[in-house]
Parts: sequence; C-alpha cells; structure tokens
Amino acid sequence: MKIICIGRNYTAHIEELENERPKEPVVFIKPDSSLLPKEQDFYIPDFTRDVHYEVEVLVKICKVGKHINEHFAYKYYEEVGLGIDFTARDLQSELKNKGLPWEKAKGFDGSAIIGKWLPKSNFKDLNNLSFSLLKNNELVQEGNTSFMLWKIDELIAYISKFFTLKKGDIIFTGTPAGVGQIVANDYLSGKLEGQELFSVNIK
Ligand code: ZN
Repeated sequence: MKIICIGRNYTAHIEELENERPKEPVVFIKPDSSLLPKEQDFYIPDFTRDVHYEVEVLVKICKVGKHINEHFAYKYYEEVGLGIDFTARDLQSELKNKGLPWEKAKGFDGSAIIGKWLPKSNFKDLNNLSFSLLKNNELVQEGNTSFMLWKIDELIAYISKFFTLKKGDIIFTGTPAGVGQIVANDYLSGKLEGQELFSVNIK
C-alpha cells in the first residue's frame, strides 16, 4: 500500500506558506510505515520542534489502474475519508531551502492519520464536501472540496500517469488554510460533512 499526497491544492493554503501556485499538482509519497495504527497516540518525534497538522480529504483506490482517464476515474474508488498529513515544518523548510526531497519531514513514522472510511455513495457531490479539524475542541481548519485546484478525478488521472494505482492505495488530496503547530497534550479530531471520522491524542 502506498500513500500519495497532493501539496498546494487550495489557494488560501498556498498563500499562507508563501508558495508559488503550481502549474501541475505537487505530488509526494508517504511510505506505508507512516500510517499511525488506529487508537494509538501520536508522539512528536525528537528531530523536530514544529509539527504541523494538515487535515485532508482522503480517497481509497479500489482497483489497479494506470493512465486512468479522468472521465473513468470515479470507477477506481468507492470510499472517501479524512486524515491528517503531519508535517515537520521546520525540517521541511530546511529541506526545501536546500532543494532536497521532503520525505523525512512528511513520511516519518506516524505522520499519516487515517480515519474511518465512508462509501462515496453517502454523498451527493464529492466536489462539495465540507470538512474541518478541531484542536482541543476548537475549530482550527475548515475546508470544502469545491475549492480544490484539482478535483479528485483530475488527481487520479494525473497521479496514474506516473504511478500505477493499486487496490488499497490512499490519496491525500491536500490541505486548506489554517495549518498550525501541535504540542504535547493536544487533542485533534476531524469531521467530514459534520461526522467525526478520527481523533488523536498528541504526546
Ligand atoms: Zn498535506
């Protein structure tokens, strides 16, 4: 199983990190070891002093595909979810400045939170899903998939030009504005269309 992540897919988040608006989706991969096992606490690793949360809508691939046409992309996923792409922002900035790959800052153990999956048929329009992240029960991030620069089906078409998608692969579709730091004893929970899909304690 691989986790494919999209960076810079919401304009307001691009602006808050003072990044350039990309001409094509920004793609990176987290290894399967980045998945935080269900019900486990997240421990801030000792190589960073600035871990950020990024809440993102997730899509689970249900069959193998390569060079998937955007118009048939909907056949390659049955379930959607919500998760967090934890990022060691200090390390990422250092790597970005040196022009080096981000993996250490984005793919470390426990950096992928994956919540409960829901059938996509539960929703009328996947391009109009509201989602949010609460930190210590206060709203910190709020987004809607209608504001994505590239929609789910476009992302699947784009990603599958480079990587064969396999059953069980997970796509993180990018974070909206409002990313921020976590510290020990924080409690995060995420909602998709008002339904809580995950919660995690920070240690
Ligand atoms: Zn992200």
